[in-house]
Amino acid sequence: MSVLLRNVRLVPVTAATSGDLTDVRMEDGKVTELGEPAEQVIEADGRWLIPGLWDQHVHFRQWAQARLRLDVGGTTGPAEAVARVREHVDGRSAVVVGAGFRPATWSEQPTTAHLDAVSSTVPIVLISGDVHSGWLNSAAQRWLGVTAREGVLDENDWFDLVPHLEELLAADLDDAYRLAVADASARGVVGVVDMEFESGFRAWPARFAAGFDGLRVRTATYAEGLEDVIAAGLRTGSALGGLATMGPLKIISDGSLNSRTARCCEPYGDGRFGVQNYPLDELVRLLGRAQSSGLAVALHAIGDAALTTALDAFEATGARGGVEHVQLARFADFDRMALLGLRASIQPAHLLDDRDVAAEIWPDRVDRCYAFGSMLAAGIELALGSDAPVSPLDPWLAMAAAVHRSADAREPWNPAESLTPAQALRASVDGQATVAVGSPADLVLVEADPLAIGDPSEVAAHLRDMRVAATFVAGRATHLTI
Ligand SMILES: [Zn+2]
Repeated sequence: MSVLLRNVRLVPVTAATSGDLTDVRMEDGKVTELGEPAEQVIEADGRWLIPGLWDQHVHFRQWAQARLRLDVGGTTGPAEAVARVREHVDGRSAVVVGAGFRPATWSEQPTTAHLDAVSSTVPIVLISGDVHSGWLNSAAQRWLGVTAREGVLDENDWFDLVPHLEELLAADLDDAYRLAVADASARGVVGVVDMEFESGFRAWPARFAAGFDGLRVRTATYAEGLEDVIAAGLRTGSALGGLATMGPLKIISDGSLNSRTARCCEPYGDGRFGVQNYPLDELVRLLGRAQSSGLAVALHAIGDAALTTALDAFEATGARGGVEHVQLARFADFDRMALLGLRASIQPAHLLDDRDVAAEIWPDRVDRCYAFGSMLAAGIELALGSDAPVSPLDPWLAMAAAVHRSADAREPWNPAESLTPAQALRASVDGQATVAVGSPADLVLVEADPLAIGDPSEVAAHLRDMRVAATFVAGRATHLTI
């Protein structure tokens, strides 16, 4: 089936455009002609056309579930979080799952007793904003079979528990997926890199077979599943069925900022340096295995010491891919990263929350945080994402955060590291150029010019509020309002 988009304006993502209205024809998953008649005609009325948006770091199942969960983000301490839970629990008997609390800046730390005061019978599970820890009441500890404890479960205990929790919550998962896909399509998303903790190369083809068809999915594997993937003969890019392809090997090499486990060159206030989950020799073994098996690597490194170790491992093995997060860096590492041809997969919306945490935890190094502009200047390819559910699966929010570096009326944080709207858009389209003949028919029509210029706070508001008129994946509309 061929579709003609009449009277679009091509947004100059890479190559410049004339700015004139033009017609774009899609057939067999490609842009075929700028002109020519087609079976279906959609009048675009001068709307702006961009390549489809990608979110390069998503935990899709957790995001789908999180959208339906109680939001305890932005709370300032246990009392406020508990008040929100109490209001939500009122009269319910089913499990309550909430997410988003950030105890790193709380003066009082959360305890089991805080939540027991809400209910002794309804299981209450609160997932931290960085998804690295869980806060449970006693009923939830019993329900999940956890040894009774007074405080939150830290990342070791929590990560062990997550699969069990998801299993118990799986009943309404189909609905959650359907709603999450519709929401992503309505924001112009055509594809995601899924970093979910599961055997995605098995799970995604099954989901596509069951009717999931709104997004392209590159599914990662973790080290635990690496040999399974290799044994199945899969490489990064291998077709898996439906719109799913094999993604990278994902490795979480250090911790996170909020839990003060990101591995740093200088100590935290308590004298510790954070956690290196994989020593260099183990990273070299894994990256070597990935490289010789045709798998790219997505290596999570949040602290500056973890980044140096990550680059050492890439250099030693010649592995391809990139580094996830890169929240704190020594600038000399950017030159190395560019030389090694590694991309930075970054989540700008995190900085909206993290600026206050970083000011408290990393007061001596805030000028080296989220250094997007410096990465770009060093020649590193940037790829934007959300790490949903850590921040919402919303590329417009990511672009706005990258451009403005502030969520509110406050001054931008390290404004020298801001991206222009054009740089942010270019980092959101999975390497695609300005739409032309031969482009994939993964296209998005937006209601306003995404490259509008002006004061950064106004530009950010303009991007955040961007309305998407239509989204096409392989030439098929996944969202259409015109
Ligand atoms: Zn992640």
